[in-house]
Amino acid sequence: MLKHVKLFTPGPVEVDPEILQACAVPMVSHRGKEYEALHRRTRDKLRTMLNVVSGRVFLFTSSATGAMEASIRNLAGKRVLSCTCGAFSERWHEIAKENGREADAYAVEWGQPNRPEEIGRRLATGKYDCVTVVHNETSTGVMNPLADIADVLRKYPDVSFCVDAVSSMSGVEIDFEKWGIDILFAGVQKAFGLPPGLSVVAVRDRALQKAASMPARGHYFDLVQFKKYDDKNQTPETPVISLIHALDVQLDRMMKEGFAARYAKTLEMARACRAWAGERFALFPEKGYESVTLSAIRNTRGIPVDRLNAELKKRGCEISEGYGKIKSLSFRIAHMADITLKDLRELLAMIDEILPTLQ
Ligand SMILES: *Cc1c(COP(=O)(O)O)cnc(C)c1O
Repeated sequence: MLKHVKLFTPGPVEVDPEILQACAVPMVSHRGKEYEALHRRTRDKLRTMLNVVSGRVFLFTSSATGAMEASIRNLAGKRVLSCTCGAFSERWHEIAKENGREADAYAVEWGQPNRPEEIGRRLATGKYDCVTVVHNETSTGVMNPLADIADVLRKYPDVSFCVDAVSSMSGVEIDFEKWGIDILFAGVQKAFGLPPGLSVVAVRDRALQKAASMPARGHYFDLVQFKKYDDKNQTPETPVISLIHALDVQLDRMMKEGFAARYAKTLEMARACRAWAGERFALFPEKGYESVTLSAIRNTRGIPVDRLNAELKKRGCEISEGYGKIKSLSFRIAHMADITLKDLRELLAMIDEILPTLQ
């Protein structure tokens, strides 16, 4: 058995025992009536959560990076504008190039957001037919102003608007329809609070039409095939049925709590964490762009984060070091999924207890 450590890391996250139980169900055929009913139920709840009206919700049996690749293969024709502000958005830019696409990065310094007006300035050149935006840059704790970016994109109806909401979806409200998003995706091991291995992918009808005319979409992430099978409440290949069952249960729990209540709870935890961090350290993101689902904290005291984490682990908890090039300069506390304010306060109290022993 793996030892249970309570995760305050931005994916995988702490998984509620009821959700773990929901993974342990008997198997059914993915071509049978039971699966079709499960598929329909789960998908329709996701449509409600994301406000998907003129579009589809697909379930990918892959981690979220698969959906990043799918967006490029299906929707990037002419040239991609990759908005980058940290490690995951940079990865998406690499994926575009690795798939042989012409792509330019609009890069900002880590800790800053991608600015709507800067995106607009680049789109005005007419060079692009696809733009990639990471809503919540998990490496820097920056939340991009998606509603304002959507306002800019509305002026460019020929540009596919691709949004990675991997670490924000279900923790923050996202309005797929109103914001005119073409493809929006998340991995369930983040704010959904499930074990990894499944991605939720919403695709607009017009994006499906574009995909149908795109050459060499590949096989596993061909959106046209996903649509064809979704018409029968199925997936093209064998899906991770146990996780879909757990997602169905989790969505029921969320609906019982109320999506708005869940968003409010996440924001309340973010505020508590920011207040704590502001008194002891500083926040990594530019003010006003702090993520709601995780706090990236600037290590202004130069503490050894690996030692802090080792001490936390002895007490049954774990946080994340900074990501990549900001590894020692920052650390991250996730407050998403089923973590509660009480859990967070306990963690912060533990850190306060450990801090004097580190300096
Ligand atoms: C975690 C993460 C990814 C990658 O997800 P995987 O499920 O590990 O493939 C992509 N984008 C963001 C913003 C993430 O937080």
